[in-house]
Amino acid sequence: MNIPRQGTNFKVRKRVKRRWTTPHIPLASTNSGACPKPNSCGNGCLIMRILLIGSGGREHAVAWKLALSPLCERLFIAPGNPGTAQCGTNLAVDVADHAAVAAAARGEGIDLVVVGPETPLVAGLVDDLAAAGVKAFGPSRAAAELEGSKAFTKELCAEAGIPTARFRRFTDPAAAKAYVRAEGAPIVVKADGLAAGKGVVVAASVAEAERAIADMLGGALGQAGAELVIEECLVGEEGSLFALCDGTTAVPLGTAQDHKRAFDGDRGPNTGGMGAYSPAPVLTAEIEAQAMRTIVAPTLAAMRRRGTPFTGVLYAGLMLTAEGPKLIEYNVRFGDPEAQVLMPRLTSDLVPALLAACEGRLADVELRWSADAALAVVMATKGYPGTYARGSEIRGVAEAEGMDGVRVFHAGTKRDGARLLADGGRVLNVTATGRTVADAQARAYAAAERIDWPQGFYRRDIGARAVEREGR
Ligand code: AMP
Repeated sequence: MNIPRQGTNFKVRKRVKRRWTTPHIPLASTNSGACPKPNSCGNGCLIMRILLIGSGGREHAVAWKLALSPLCERLFIAPGNPGTAQCGTNLAVDVADHAAVAAAARGEGIDLVVVGPETPLVAGLVDDLAAAGVKAFGPSRAAAELEGSKAFTKELCAEAGIPTARFRRFTDPAAAKAYVRAEGAPIVVKADGLAAGKGVVVAASVAEAERAIADMLGGALGQAGAELVIEECLVGEEGSLFALCDGTTAVPLGTAQDHKRAFDGDRGPNTGGMGAYSPAPVLTAEIEAQAMRTIVAPTLAAMRRRGTPFTGVLYAGLMLTAEGPKLIEYNVRFGDPEAQVLMPRLTSDLVPALLAACEGRLADVELRWSADAALAVVMATKGYPGTYARGSEIRGVAEAEGMDGVRVFHAGTKRDGARLLADGGRVLNVTATGRTVADAQARAYAAAERIDWPQGFYRRDIGARAVEREGR
C-alpha cells in the first residue's frame, strides 16, 4: 500500500507482526519489579511506577492492561473503583486538585501518570504535572481543545482542509434561528464545550433545532452552551478510529463502534454508551488508512503548526459518507466503553507505547493486535440515564468472569465488605473476546446472564449490525 504523505512524517503502518523494539527490558523483570538495577536505571531499563487517573470502566480496562506489563513495577489508580483495586492500589485523591495529584505522584515515586478522562485533560492536568516535574501521558490543555471546544476543532478542520460537516458558529439566538430556517432540517445543533454527552441535538425539524438553540444559549448546559456550532447533518454509518500520537507521528490504535442510545433498536435517550465492539467492520483497512491520511495526519500537522502538538490518544468519531470518511468530532482520550474492547485485543505491551508517545518516539513503534473480536455489554442501573437509585447488591460477577474469554470491567460499583453494590448509572462492562463479533457477542451475553442484579438492565442488541454483516 503506497500512501502519500501530507506534510508530516505520519505513516500508515501495515498490519505486519513486528516485535517491539524496546530498550533493555531486564530479563528477570516481572510485575514484582525484579530489575537488577534501580528504578529507571539509566541504561534504558524502565521498570516503572505508574499512576492512572480516573474511576470508570475505561480505567479498569486500561489498568488491567497496564498491570500485565513487565515494565509496570507498581500501579496506582486515583481514585479508581473496586475493579481497578484488583489491578493495583487505589489512591483517594481528588483529581480536580492538580497539586494533590502531583504531590501523590511524587510521594509514590511515580514515573508516569496516565490520564483517562477528558475533564482533567481539558483542565490542564498534564501541564500542571509537567510543571511539577512529573511525566504524564495525555494532551496538554491547549491540545485537549480538540475535545474541549467543538468550534476550535471545526476551525482547525477548515484551516487544514479536513473533511467534516459544513458549519457556522453562533452566540446570538436570533441569528442561529435565522440560519436554521434558511438551511432547513435535518440540522445539527451542538454546544461548543464539554456537556457530558448532552450537547448535541440532531434536529429532524426546524422547530426542534430552534428549541435546542433556545435551551443551549438560554443556559441549560451552563458555560458549555454559551456558543453553538450548527452544522450540516451528515448521512452514513458511524465508526470510531483511535490513534496513538506523539505530536508528529500517529499509530493506529484500533477501531470500534458503540451504541449510544439506552434501549434496543437505538431507541431511548442518549447515554455515555451502552456497549461497543471492536474491530468495527465498517471501517475497512482502506477506509481506516484514508481517515488516517485525510483526517488524523493533517490534524497533527495543524496542531504542530499552531505550536500545540497533540500527544495522547486521538479518538475520531467518523461518518462514512458517500464522499468518504468525514470527522464528526474528536475526543482526546480512550473512549468508554471503547477502551474495554480495545484493551483485550491489544497484544503489544501498552506501557512502552505510552512512553514512546510521551517522548516523541512513535516512529519506531508497531502495535500488534489479536485477530479476535471483542464486545462489551454495559449493565446500567434502571432509570439511567435519568435518575436512579444507588446501593443495590450485585451477585454473580465471579461466575461470569470464570467463563472462557470473559472479563467484567467495573465502572460505578463500590464494596461493602464482601458485597458488591451499584454506585452509579453505568455499573459493569461485561466484555468477551471471540473469533468473530458473533462469538464475542454470544459469550458476553451468556456471561451477563450469570450476573444476578434485578435493579440493572442492559441492551440485548450490542453488535447486532456487525453480526448481521458477518452473516452476509
Ligand atoms: P458528537 O458528540 O459530536 O459525537 O455527536 C453525538 C452524535 O450525534 C454522533 O455520534 C452522531 O450520531 C450525531 N452527530 C453529530 N454530528 C452530526 C452530524 N453533523 N451529522 C449527523 N449526525 C451527527
